Amino acid sequence: MSPTQKQRPPPVMTPDPQSKLVKLDYSVLQQCIHCGMCLPTCPTYNETGRERNSPRGRISLMRAIADGELEVTPSFGEEMSYCLGCLACVTACPAGVDYATLIETSRAEVERTGVLRKPTRSLTRWFFFRLVFTRPRLLRAIGRVLRVWQRSGAQAWCRRMGLMRLLPGRLRELEPQAPVMCAKFSNALIKPVERPASGEVRHRVLVLTGCVQDLAFSDVNRATVDVLLENGCEVLTPPVQFCCGSLQMHNGDDDTARLLARRQLDETDLTQIDAIISNAGGCGSHLRHYGKMLKDEPQYAQRAAEWSRKLRDIHEWLVEINYRKPKVAPVSFAGSPATPLTYQESCHLCHGQKITRQPREILKSIPGIAYKECAEVSWCCGGAGIYSVTQPKTSSWLQDRKLGHLRATGATVVATANPGCHLQIQNGLNNKPAPAGNSPPPRIIHPIVLLAEAYAAEKKN
Ligand code: SF4
Ligand code: SF4
Repeated sequence: MSPTQKQRPPPVMTPDPQSKLVKLDYSVLQQCIHCGMCLPTCPTYNETGRERNSPRGRISLMRAIADGELEVTPSFGEEMSYCLGCLACVTACPAGVDYATLIETSRAEVERTGVLRKPTRSLTRWFFFRLVFTRPRLLRAIGRVLRVWQRSGAQAWCRRMGLMRLLPGRLRELEPQAPVMCAKFSNALIKPVERPASGEVRHRVLVLTGCVQDLAFSDVNRATVDVLLENGCEVLTPPVQFCCGSLQMHNGDDDTARLLARRQLDETDLTQIDAIISNAGGCGSHLRHYGKMLKDEPQYAQRAAEWSRKLRDIHEWLVEINYRKPKVAPVSFAGSPATPLTYQESCHLCHGQKITRQPREILKSIPGIAYKECAEVSWCCGGAGIYSVTQPKTSSWLQDRKLGHLRATGATVVATANPGCHLQIQNGLNNKPAPAGNSPPPRIIHPIVLLAEAYAAEKKN
C-alpha cells in the first residue's frame, strides 16, 4: 500500500467477500479526490444535475459498497446502467481515476448479484452475449437472414402494411434502428493474406474485422486492408474471427469477455506480426486491455501483455509508420473545390484510447476536404454500445444534441471511426430530419474509407 492510500474503514455491514467491488484493488476505489472537475464533461450529470448521476457520485456509491456501507440494490444497478461508459470523465480527471475499471467491475457486480434480473432481460443477454456473439459463423448466418429480410422487400412490405405494429413495444421502436447488412462480409472481400502489389514489404500486420463492422461495414475492413497495402504492409486477415468481447465487458459479462479474449489469443501467432490493427474505436479500447484483463492467468498473461503492446488503432498505426499522403481527392468529391467535412469522435477512441490527433491529421491530408471542427465533438452521441436499447430517452436526447452540432457545421460529410457512432448518427439523420432544410443529409463515412478512396482516385488518374 502506498503512503497516500488509506486503510479500509471498519465495515458497517459485513461486505460480501465474493463481491467484485470488494475484491477490486482498493487503491482504484481511492483515487477519486472529489474535486468535481469531471462534472461539466459528464452527459448524465448534465441531463439531471444530480450528484448521484455524476462520475463522482457513482464512485462514492461504488466505494460505499466495497466498504460494506451499502448493499447492491436495483437502484444501484439502474445507476450503473444510466452511465454511458463514455469515459469523458477519465479525460477530465486530474487524479487519473480508472473509471473504466470501476464501471466495468460495478456492472459485473450488478449481474453477479442479479438485482436487475428479469426473465426477458436474462434471455436477451444470454442470446446475444453468450450465444450469438461467441459464435462468428452463427452471427454471419443471422446477418445473411437479416440481409434477405431487408433486401427482398419483405421488410418494406411489412412496414407498408403496418405489420410492425404487431411487434412488442421496445422491439417496434428498435426495428428501424437495425443496421443494414452488407451484401458481402469481410471474409468474402478480403483474402486471408494480401501483399502489396509493388514495392517493399515493410510491416506485417493482422487486421481485426469485428462483429457489427463485419456485418454492416465490411467496406471499412476492405478499405483498411487497401490502405495498409498502399503503405507497405503485408496484411493477415483470418476469415473467421471471434468477437473481441467489448460488448460483454461493457455490460457486466466479464466471464464471457475473458473467454473471448483467450480465444483471440489462441488463434493468433503474435510472433509473426508487427501490429494488430483495430479500426473500431469501441473494440480497440477494449482490445488494448487484454494484458490487464488476463494478467492473473499464467497461461495467458504473457501473450495478453504482448497483444496489448502490439494493438494499434488504424489511424495511430498509419501516422506511426509515416503513411503516404494522397495526391488527389476521392472520386466522390469530384466537381467540388472543397467538400465541407466534419469529424465526430468516438468516445472510446478519444477518451478510451486517447487517439484524437491522428484521425484529424489523416482527414486534413486528403485533398478536396474543407475540414470543420464540430462543437462538443468529444461528447457522446448516445450510441454507447447498447445504450439506445437500455436507456432510449437519454440516448435520443444525446442524439438530438449531436445532430444539432453536426448540422451547424454545414458539413456534407461526417467522418467517424466506430460502427456504433455511425449507426447512431445515421439513424438520427434518417428518423429526425432537419427542422427546416431541404438539403440532403450528410454522408457518414469512416476516415479510412475516404483515404482508401483517395488512393484509388490516384490510380484512376
Ligand atoms: S462514463 Fe460518461 S456518463 Fe459515465 S460517469 Fe463518466 S462521463 Fe458520465
Ligand atoms: S475529476 Fe476525478 S478525482 Fe475529481 S471528482 Fe471527478 S473522478 Fe473524482
